[in-house]
Amino acid sequence: MAVAYIGLGSNMGNRKAYIQNALEKLSQSPNIRLLRVASLYESAPWGYLNQEWFINTVAEVETILSPDKLLQVLFHIEKSLERTRDIKWGPRTVDLDILLYDQETINLPQLNVPHPRMHERAFVLVPLAELCPDMILPQGLVRELADKAQAEQDVRKLV
Ligand code: ATP
Ligand code: CA
Ligand code: CA
Repeated sequence: MAVAYIGLGSNMGNRKAYIQNALEKLSQSPNIRLLRVASLYESAPWGYLNQEWFINTVAEVETILSPDKLLQVLFHIEKSLERTRDIKWGPRTVDLDILLYDQETINLPQLNVPHPRMHERAFVLVPLAELCPDMILPQGLVRELADKAQAEQDVRKLV
């Protein structure tokens, strides 16, 4: 049994519904148990700026799936929610990334864990810090990384 953290994001259509549908599908997937979900946050676009704000959150799951199988499930959920890939870091109905999988470091052509850009993204660190403030990443304490990132990037709890 592994504990994994999944980052979710949406900035097209009914963003909140896409996130909620993705969480629902995640919780209904065989061999995945949804343990906790952080609050929903609104965040400024990252990487490609000419697009709508995002809604983001992080989910904590327990799974017997291998990292690769878990990624396949995430792709399947994205596909079922009309995700397409046009512009790099561009608009998407829903994006699901594996942030962490136990303490494992994975470097495969299709899968890098910990997610290689998570430590510089406030929209990942702030919800993650809500679930695991004291978690230690290679770059430091999640709570401190989140504070630092949030000072530079706009991330607000959705009310
Ligand atoms: P980013 O990875 O910077 O958040 P993105 O989520 O917009 O960007 P995608 O187009 O969704 O990028 O995915 C591109 C590829 O990233 C996928 O085909 C997938 O194989 C690969 N990938 C590598 N590591 C991961 C990971 N930890 N979680 C999800 N996908 C990953
Ligand atoms: Ca992503
Ligand atoms: Ca992705």
